[in-house]
Amino acid sequence: MKPELDDQPCPCQSGSSYGACCRPYHRGKAKAPTAEALMRSRYTAYVLGEIDYLVKTTHPAVRRTDLWIQYKQTHDTIRWIGLEVVKTAQGSVRDKTGKVEFKASYVQEGRHAVHHELSRFRRHGGDWHYVDGVIEDVSA
Ligand SMILES: [Zn+2]
Repeated sequence: MKPELDDQPCPCQSGSSYGACCRPYHRGKAKAPTAEALMRSRYTAYVLGEIDYLVKTTHPAVRRTDLWIQYKQTHDTIRWIGLEVVKTAQGSVRDKTGKVEFKASYVQEGRHAVHHELSRFRRHGGDWHYVDGVIEDVSA
């Protein structure tokens, strides 16, 4: 990871720099306090290729053995270009479960598309984890 990346706008489009936004989560210096924060940090991990983080923040109940390879292949073949959080339900610092609906824009093999997903999150060992999502792919 290049140090100057810290000063760039965070890929999750929070308005903060990467160093002040998702990086502390990727580096294990802090835990995402809400389901939305975890979702944003996972999006940024997709963008930057933080594969270990994606695996680590997947709920152990659904963490298949080939997950690392799957995330790596996604990172290698898809270029993520934008994130819009549509809405959230629960997932606050006081909740144990949460849902985040988002639209993530990407380019794959020259094709522009939007990944529209309603993700479910659950705490495990006190920390937010991704469980699963209902996915709808729509053309941009
Ligand atoms: Zn961020």
